Amino acid sequence: MKSEPPATITPSAPVCHCVFAHPTTVEAAAEVLERVDDALRVNDARGVYVHLIRLFGPCPAATARAQALADVQGLMSKG
Ligand SMILES: [Zn+2]
Repeated sequence: MKSEPPATITPSAPVCHCVFAHPTTVEAAAEVLERVDDALRVNDARGVYVHLIRLFGPCPAATARAQALADVQGLMSKG
């Protein structure tokens, strides 16, 4: 019988497991920003609220989210 290799703990970036999924990739961040725009356009206050939570609510992966949002802003400013 082969013995199992010992479990190793590898350090990794915190991951979002939140009820309202926070965007941690450029694509996801761009989509959330688009959804905020859509919700504003149709006066969907609840939609705006939910998507703002996704952008600014507390999240263990907040650093990755901030980087994704910064990257989206960089892409948008290039135009
Ligand atoms: Zn999260």
